[in-house]
Amino acid sequence: MQEPKNLAVLGSTGSIGCNTLKVAQELSHIRVWALSGFSKLQILQEQAHTFQPQRIVAACSQTAKEFEFDPRWIERVRTGSNALIEVAEHPEVDIVVAAIVGQAGLASTLAAVRSGKRVALANKEALVVAGDLMTHAARESGAELVPIDSEHSAIWQSALAGETQEIRRVILTASGGPFRNFSAEQLAQVTVEQALDHPNWEMGQKITIDSATMINKALEMIEAKWLFGLQPGQIEVMIHPQSIVHSLVEFVDGSVIAQLSPPDMKLPIQYALTYPHRVSGIAERLDWGSAWRLEFFPPNSLQQSALDLGRYVCEHTGTCGAVLNAANEVAVAAFLARRISFHEIVPRCREILEQHETITSPTYEQLLAADEWARQEMNKWIFA
Ligand code: NAD
Ligand code: MG
Repeated sequence: MQEPKNLAVLGSTGSIGCNTLKVAQELSHIRVWALSGFSKLQILQEQAHTFQPQRIVAACSQTAKEFEFDPRWIERVRTGSNALIEVAEHPEVDIVVAAIVGQAGLASTLAAVRSGKRVALANKEALVVAGDLMTHAARESGAELVPIDSEHSAIWQSALAGETQEIRRVILTASGGPFRNFSAEQLAQVTVEQALDHPNWEMGQKITIDSATMINKALEMIEAKWLFGLQPGQIEVMIHPQSIVHSLVEFVDGSVIAQLSPPDMKLPIQYALTYPHRVSGIAERLDWGSAWRLEFFPPNSLQQSALDLGRYVCEHTGTCGAVLNAANEVAVAAFLARRISFHEIVPRCREILEQHETITSPTYEQLLAADEWARQEMNKWIFA
């Protein structure tokens, strides 16, 4: 029997948030203490009926004004982004699942880390923007920063086979997304519908587009750097279309340890909640009754151009992560709004990154300023 734990799910109405609640429902030691949503407040209210949390955060004050919560929840509802921070820091909360998408999740994720919680991190953008601050804060507060992202969960699990200093390198796997074998000419014709149709994973819109451009893997290289304290040269990427091997760790003696499971986020979410224990759970299992094939390819030059952005940020650090993330967030939104073409996202992010004058040990305010600058630069180009 594990000790009871209070869970705050920030971003409970999203893809990771909903999967977290499915996992939590099956774990007798987990009590859902807080939920949060932004625009889908009807779903948030339905979740409240099921889980009866102590706090319900409607993070967008405007949407909250227009929504009539059931009177039985009024006492527990809080609105606005400060309410996310209040929940993240609340003394009754033991585990925070950081599942808000984008830079919008940074302040609450950092607040949870500073308060010494276990932070189960899906919001990779927070670490891309502020990896140095976040990992420093975790060391100071004693917070356990554990990954939900499937590749990083795989590295975490595989790394347990040796000592940290015995890791030679990590190999992040990437499905390659829907356009794995597309030429530059074909990529120039990609539609929003095609880009949203990921072959292996069901995810929110932003990460689905990031997977198609491969910027998701660039963000994951940066995420791996901060989570596992790696040098840029220790992070490799291989294309693995089946999404069964979630990542691999190569040790100094040449032994390579991998983690395998079907593409189902419920497993890495559950491990982040139950670590160091494993429980039976509801995640899909591999079928060992039939033949199957696992393939690995080095990235092609088009894929590499997106990965180069991750390498650049891993090498330069400072404000670079904030710039890449912000430029990409604006570009993805513009692509989804059909204002720019798919194949413009990566080169535009690269140009803005190269124009940026990096500040090496930025404060939180300097990170936000770099984020703001990159958003403006991307918008100037989009609306030129
Ligand atoms: P999603 O779009 O399905 O959900 C996003 C959540 O964030 C929603 O609950 C939404 O209400 C909330 N949100 C959006 N904007 C907000 C704002 N401004 N303020 C407060 N809350 C806001 O996204 P997702 O696919 O669940 O991804 C969430 C995070 O997890 C992302 O960082 C993503 O990269 C990461 N991740 C997702 C998957 C996956 O399988 N979906 C896998 C690995 C990592
Ligand atoms: Mg991933």
